[in-house]
Amino acid sequence: MKQLGLMIDLDRCIGCKTCIVACRNNKGLVDHAGAMPGEIPHYLRVESAREGTFPHITARSWVVPCQHCKNAQCIKACPSEAIAKDAQTGIVRIDKTKCTGARKCIEECPYNVIQFNVAENYAHKCDLCFERVVFGEKPVCAEVCLTDAITFGELSELKARAHEAGREIDKKMSAMSVVYLKPTPKNTLATR
Ligand code: SF4
Ligand code: SF4
Repeated sequence: MKQLGLMIDLDRCIGCKTCIVACRNNKGLVDHAGAMPGEIPHYLRVESAREGTFPHITARSWVVPCQHCKNAQCIKACPSEAIAKDAQTGIVRIDKTKCTGARKCIEECPYNVIQFNVAENYAHKCDLCFERVVFGEKPVCAEVCLTDAITFGELSELKARAHEAGREIDKKMSAMSVVYLKPTPKNTLATR
């Protein structure tokens, strides 16, 4: 099976959240009238970590969307077979017309990336912008990233590109279909 995915470069991500905002707009997740800031659904989140000791501290950011898992726990957990892995692209998608609102997928997803629409009683999440990529376009997050930290493509090609560029893949973070590139020592950011 072909497996589409994303590659996140920890040398490039600055944690600006432009991708989150663009994704929300593209997927209609923004309820301008009613939602409070902490309640707006999001299909990806920014995580960050600091390493080292003062004055040599490094700060890193990266984004976490659905990982489009190989043996997705959300698919196994769904009692109504509303979640499936697309045979052509490897994208894990939720069919909201089949979702009964059981929320089992939310309980079982190890990456905590599934959102829930309370008003309409269905689970939803990143579908790697299925409606765009089937027409040869990039997912919105990869399109808008200000620093080109997000690359879209076929998983094996993404890994080959990382290898050709001499970049090391963080294997622990890259267990599924999102590849995370370890930061290179030369790009260490020291605080003053
Ligand atoms: S990250 Fe969660 S929602 Fe995405 S495929 Fe894996 S188990 Fe399912
Ligand atoms: S691939 Fe599309 S739906 Fe998924 S996080 Fe990126 S912009 Fe959002």
